[in-house]
Amino acid sequence: MDLIKIGKFIAGLRKDKNLTQESLAEKLYVTDRAVSKWERGLSLPDADKMLDLCNILGINVNELLNGEKIDMKDYEKKTEELLVEMAKKEETSNKKLIMNMWIIAITALLFYIGIIIVSAMALEEGPLLGTIICGSTALLVIVAFYAFKLEVETGYYECNKCHHKHIPNYFVAMICPHINLTRFLKCPKCHKWSWSKKVMTK
Ligand SMILES: [Zn+2]
Repeated sequence: MDLIKIGKFIAGLRKDKNLTQESLAEKLYVTDRAVSKWERGLSLPDADKMLDLCNILGINVNELLNGEKIDMKDYEKKTEELLVEMAKKEETSNKKLIMNMWIIAITALLFYIGIIIVSAMALEEGPLLGTIICGSTALLVIVAFYAFKLEVETGYYECNKCHHKHIPNYFVAMICPHINLTRFLKCPKCHKWSWSKKVMTK
């Protein structure tokens, strides 16, 4: 924090308001020596005087501590840029997640088919073959569920009627009809059923 800059800022604003050090001090119930010290950068106003001082000078605490006015347009623009950047990052990472989901699911399925074929050709019918088939089927179900969970949790479903974006619970997502990543869902906002598209950002 630059006390000298803050002090000059206070002095400048005080003069703009046609206030003397004495009259400003009076309004804040402090001594004019205190005001003089702030303006020379020797001390900061106490926390309990800061808000009143800001009100009198027509600034906010952030501006006071920065020692300069912050343009509201810049503020909004900066916030907007930050939000756009965050949304982009979310979209990229969600696309990656969905991609990984497909890779995992397809690899698991190919692996499963491979194991079944190889063991059916190499092994006699019996308990060992049964165990291998049961075991790998169970594994495939687990992987499929994991991929499904990943898919439901990634991004949002956008209601086709009111464009509200939401995440359905697993049970609903599992039993509802779907085509690719688009699911027939009931919107929690407008309570209408519609084909809800998968979107990557809110
Ligand atoms: Zn809706």
